[in-house]
Amino acid sequence: MKTIADLGDLRGRRVLVRSDLNVPLDDAGAITDDGRVRASVPTIKDLADQGARVIVCAHLGRPKGEPDPQFSLRPVATRLEELLGQPVAFATDTVGESARQAVGALEDGQVVLLENLRFNAGETAKTADGRREFAEQLAALADAFVSDGFGVVHREQASVFDITQLLPSAAGGLVETEVGVLRRLTEDPQRPYAVVLGGAKVSDKLGVIDNLLAKADRLLIGGGMVFTFLKAQGLEVGQSLLEEDQLDVVRGYLQTAEDTGVEIVLPTDIVVATEFSADADHEVVAADQIPADRMGLDIGPDSSRVFADKLADARTVFWNGPMGAFEMAPYADGTRAVARALVDITAEHDALTVVGGGDSAAAVRQFGHRDDEFGHISTGGGASLEFLEGKTLPGLDVLED
Ligand code: ADP
Ligand code: MG
Repeated sequence: MKTIADLGDLRGRRVLVRSDLNVPLDDAGAITDDGRVRASVPTIKDLADQGARVIVCAHLGRPKGEPDPQFSLRPVATRLEELLGQPVAFATDTVGESARQAVGALEDGQVVLLENLRFNAGETAKTADGRREFAEQLAALADAFVSDGFGVVHREQASVFDITQLLPSAAGGLVETEVGVLRRLTEDPQRPYAVVLGGAKVSDKLGVIDNLLAKADRLLIGGGMVFTFLKAQGLEVGQSLLEEDQLDVVRGYLQTAEDTGVEIVLPTDIVVATEFSADADHEVVAADQIPADRMGLDIGPDSSRVFADKLADARTVFWNGPMGAFEMAPYADGTRAVARALVDITAEHDALTVVGGGDSAAAVRQFGHRDDEFGHISTGGGASLEFLEGKTLPGLDVLED
């Protein structure tokens, strides 16, 4: 993979950086988790320190291909400025008059952030033809391109994919780090290797289960997806999330695991509630005793102990997806226990622990953990899953030498 060093001397050159600044905002437009901004800073700082004229571009949310103030990156420019410790100019458009002027005014080592790329329909157009004009306009702003938005490298989009055909291009430090960690999960991982999967839907994670069943020693399953596994084993799951159409696929996984000696760890008890709400009546029941009128919203305390135990001797762990509806306090304990177990084995055994997925990352921060208590917290949920599925990611493929 080409890296920034391959771009040569950057002093005085205009470098377009694609970052992932897609942060959650509250109703008042304030950033609620700046993890992605923080993760983007080192590469931007590196380029500025080398004397490049740095043009940062990114998207926020899902505007419909035209300007929409609700999705403006302006609050992100302010946060970026604080974290970088230097001024960040803000262009109020992507490739228009404001962008051209702001870029023209840059001096060596200065930084500008362009407005939300998705204010232009060309960014996410489905065909290369549809994206070409926008990619060319972006390319005209710069002399070189650095791809550092790991969260978007699985997308065939103008600022991720097409732009690399138009400018000398390289991976930024964040993309290099993310890819390095994910490689360690797929090539010769230290054993025992445990994979913990949760989150809302099995169908989101099927490809990963398929691929990791051939690599991991243990698969621990919680979250909403676990009920499809329990049902596949003949248990009743009441009102819990269930994907009936995946039952056969899941039965297939259970069989494959048995044939290949991969241990599947399912919860022994479940926190069930009368409805999907923090105030609902809730109690702990055995996993084979879920009442017909209750829904499972977390793994129970016994399961948390079992899961922690199954993680205690692991030397490599990939975790994607919370164990329960952790956003509501009564259903956060299972997720908290998994986070704790990962922090412990990272500190005590220097295990490689990787957290993937936006909600999982938000959960560990909600519990007060620092990022550096884990081996790595991926900024790209979808991208890391596709990587682990063994897919070719378009935005990485184009950075190969
Ligand atoms: P990530 O973003 O980490 O990949 P997902 O997006 O797959 O995770 O899933 C996260 C969501 O799954 C959370 O919002 C959480 O509330 C929900 N969830 C977890 N367990 C359950 C459950 N038992 N029932 C309903 N929702 C659940
Ligand atoms: Mg999510």
